[in-house]
Amino acid sequence: MNQYDFVVVGSGPAGRRAAIQAAKLEKKVLVIERGSRVGGVSVHTGTIPSKTLRETALNLSGWRERGFYGRAYRVKKEISAEDLRRRLLITLDHEVDVLEHQFSRNRVAQLRGEAKFIDANTLEVTKDDGEVLHVTATAILLSVGTKPFRPPHIPFDGVSIIDSDEILEIKELPRSMIVIGAGVIGIEYATIFSALDTTVTIVEPRDTMLDFIDKEIVEDFCYQLRDRNMKLIFGQTVEKVEKDAAGKCRVTLRNGRVLQAEMVLFAAGRVGATGNLNLEACGLEADNRGRLKVDPATFQTSVPNIYAAGDVVGFPSLASTSMEQGRIAARHAVGAPTSEPPQFFPYGIYAVPEISTCGLTEEEVQQRGIPYECGIAHFRETSRGHIMGLDSGLLKMIFSLKTRRLLGVHIVGEGATELVHIGQAVLNLKGTVEYFVENTFNYPTLAEGYKIAGLDAWNRMGELKAPAPIA
Ligand SMILES: Cc1cc2nc3c(=O)[nH]c(=O)nc-3n(C[C@H](O)[C@H](O)[C@H](O)COP(=O)(O)OP(=O)(O)OC[C@H]3O[C@@H](n4cnc5c(N)ncnc54)[C@H](O)[C@@H]3O)c2cc1C
Repeated sequence: MNQYDFVVVGSGPAGRRAAIQAAKLEKKVLVIERGSRVGGVSVHTGTIPSKTLRETALNLSGWRERGFYGRAYRVKKEISAEDLRRRLLITLDHEVDVLEHQFSRNRVAQLRGEAKFIDANTLEVTKDDGEVLHVTATAILLSVGTKPFRPPHIPFDGVSIIDSDEILEIKELPRSMIVIGAGVIGIEYATIFSALDTTVTIVEPRDTMLDFIDKEIVEDFCYQLRDRNMKLIFGQTVEKVEKDAAGKCRVTLRNGRVLQAEMVLFAAGRVGATGNLNLEACGLEADNRGRLKVDPATFQTSVPNIYAAGDVVGFPSLASTSMEQGRIAARHAVGAPTSEPPQFFPYGIYAVPEISTCGLTEEEVQQRGIPYECGIAHFRETSRGHIMGLDSGLLKMIFSLKTRRLLGVHIVGEGATELVHIGQAVLNLKGTVEYFVENTFNYPTLAEGYKIAGLDAWNRMGELKAPAPIA
């Protein structure tokens, strides 16, 4: 009875997409999830909650209108943690409902409990009520995701010294906050709280942040953060975090500087949730960050019937890419043909302002020795930007001088994570600068920035003399 063609451990984006794909290929599929509800980190503590929080913060604070009405403009004067939670709970319920429906419609069986290996084809599942079941499978997908990294020297208390899961449970909005770690998660929360009038300091051990993003975009982004009084401290590690007698958090940096705030968010990394899987029993081993190694084309591990996808396999650790990985893994596992993932995928950082990027950065183009030209558009140059009261926002495109093809698109500003898909399509369809110059864009839109940036590059690249070589 407990024999399946394909068993998925973890119901986040990778597991969910894999399970449905295998079910659509008429396989008998089971999803094992240890959380009380399906959805994984993405639905319960990661993507959806942080984006809902962001949307609520921007709406209630009137952030998007401040370009027009001034920095003092507010939609709601006193925003509470409860205001933020209310919308979050409604959104999460909706997401879970959609997922449950997808599973039942596709006849994907579900089991609530924690899975661990007995051997490469058998899992032991301990349910919440203590009952233990054994499940056997022809193929298994590990899509167990990650959990926040909690080093022993940080005295987490779940109230004012917290990780990125606990931030969703806070009872009051802090007046000041220190965010340790300027990775994507740290930056997103730091800028969301800054939009809610919390005084934010970011501490990052490296000399820069988001080093996989085009440098010019990061510089513009940092300028915008500093312009609204956020403090960015680079090149400093945290020696000690403690609370004083009045309950205020004190963060001592290696250079001796002491920072104080009402709340500390530790957001410096995540580790793969592989610790309880008893991997030795199936012949797998995780690395020192709990991650699993896979073949990047098929997501097969070194044990042929076991696959891994999503955050547990490491970069880029996005819900969007996890879904694709899950789909490819499921198809390969059940013997269906698979296609290569597209060369370029978009990366979205839902900070305030948003950053989104697809393709090569200017630094990567230089490292590869490709002769290139850049085109830039400022959102304030577009009529839509005027209407929206935008005084910031930048869209940058990089073109090859040899093939005239678009090599990368990089955006910081309002709507970046939506706008990037135009560039992504041109990039993956191998389009050239002529696409942007010769096509009409809706007016007034921020997408018109593509036309402006295209023309900016084209003016320096000169007219197309002969058909561009097909690379
Ligand atoms: C704060 C934050 C913001 C984010 N924002 C974005 C964003 O804007 N866009 C984006 O694309 N991505 C974002 N991400 C990343 C995104 O959430 C992850 O890439 C995605 O959730 C990874 O999916 P996954 O399938 O690997 O598993 P996860 O979503 O991590 O889910 C894994 C599931 O496995 C279950 N599990 C683990 N071990 C076991 C076991 N032994 N037995 C049974 N079940 C088990 C867990 O309970 C969990 O439900 C964000 C992440 C965080 C933390």
